Amino acid sequence: MGRPGFHCITFGCQMNVNDSQWVERALISRGFEMRPLEEADAVLVNTCSVREKPEQKVHSTLGRIRLANPAAVVGVAGCVAQQMGEDLARRHPQVRLIAGSDGIAAVPDAFVRLLEDPGLRLSYLEFTDAFPDRDPCLAAGTGDGGAPVAFVNIMQGCDNFCAYCIVPYTRGPRKSRPARSILEECRAWVARGAGDITLLGQNVNAFGRDKYGDGTSFPDLLRMVAGIPGLRRIRFVSAHPRDLSQETIDLFAELPQLCPRLHLPLQSGSTSMLAKMGRGYTMERYLSVVQSLRQARPGMALSTDLIVGFPSETEKEFDDTLRAIDSCGFMSSFSFCYSDRPGTRASAMPFKIPREVQLERLSRLQALQNDRAEAWLRSRVGMATDVLLESPSHRQDGANLWQGRDPWGDSVNVLLPEGEGRAGQFVDVRIRAARKHSLMAVPV
Ligand code: SF4
Repeated sequence: MGRPGFHCITFGCQMNVNDSQWVERALISRGFEMRPLEEADAVLVNTCSVREKPEQKVHSTLGRIRLANPAAVVGVAGCVAQQMGEDLARRHPQVRLIAGSDGIAAVPDAFVRLLEDPGLRLSYLEFTDAFPDRDPCLAAGTGDGGAPVAFVNIMQGCDNFCAYCIVPYTRGPRKSRPARSILEECRAWVARGAGDITLLGQNVNAFGRDKYGDGTSFPDLLRMVAGIPGLRRIRFVSAHPRDLSQETIDLFAELPQLCPRLHLPLQSGSTSMLAKMGRGYTMERYLSVVQSLRQARPGMALSTDLIVGFPSETEKEFDDTLRAIDSCGFMSSFSFCYSDRPGTRASAMPFKIPREVQLERLSRLQALQNDRAEAWLRSRVGMATDVLLESPSHRQDGANLWQGRDPWGDSVNVLLPEGEGRAGQFVDVRIRAARKHSLMAVPV
């Protein structure tokens, strides 16, 4: 009998992508191989409930799996699994595994058991008492094994309960991972060739400030990670503007490994909206954080998240958000129309904004942001930078073009002499041209 086949479908944020890649490596280390959906023995759907209509998306995905591969064992993990629980398996009999946010660590062994025992159904919905640590299984390289860029979870969950957000309900309370285990994983990635590591968590600036912390603060952790020989770039996401301390900001001046690019979710440019959202900071405080960051690291690029049409948002409050794009100098943003998430405070708020008004505001905001994003890329033409090569672009004209990222996180295409270039190589370049979403460069 051949090796069992596995297929993974992932929705949502980088934390979900990271979880799915870990499940893939853990299954490969247990003898599985990756296969297309139609040929897989086991299929995992790793879900997200942040965007709109998440449940509908999961139901339609499960319907698609049933048509494509009715014999496969199906597992559903992540935020929607946490919310809907065993109801999912009742509605879709093909689903034999349900794993909530802390249950991901149990998924690989669960699939092994489910394939051995056709009568078995498993569910892991409890929040664990500490960070659900796991062997990173780096020896089982999949597409990301030995990758130049790595993502390392440093915490799970969130205690903030922003009025619109479902994450504290689906990911549970904040739990910091022990620093020793984070450092071990970072060192292992660097030993496998990673030159750029992003530390991941829902609110990384609050790392260590929960009962599961081991006494290491977030700035302490950044200094420790920066001390790993061979690691050239460090990033972190998500940062909460309220919890971003001056000590962390100062590290942008102190640690050359910290990249000059930060994603700092603003959500609204109006202080009254921020108060209703329960964000815990004013626009004034946000602007002073932006100023401090740019003092610590001149040329710092900032991106953000913006919510349009939160309950009771007036035209004036929306204009404040438009103005914030320029006053903060955001080079990119993820923007969404507000929509209710069950059980959140905002879902019970009056004065919901009609959908057509939300969409009209969103399109104005995105037009402005696209303009600023293109201006940002144009401003980079002529600059010298370094690019960490990730993969060759397969061009029809046969040119040896490589794609990678620079410290600002921009996607850069580098034209190299024939036969040169490898994934994981740093190349010093000069930016020659800006396209709509990327830059073109040549080596110097
Ligand atoms: S900080 Fe707010 S928006 Fe971010 S995960 Fe926590 S509750 Fe959600």
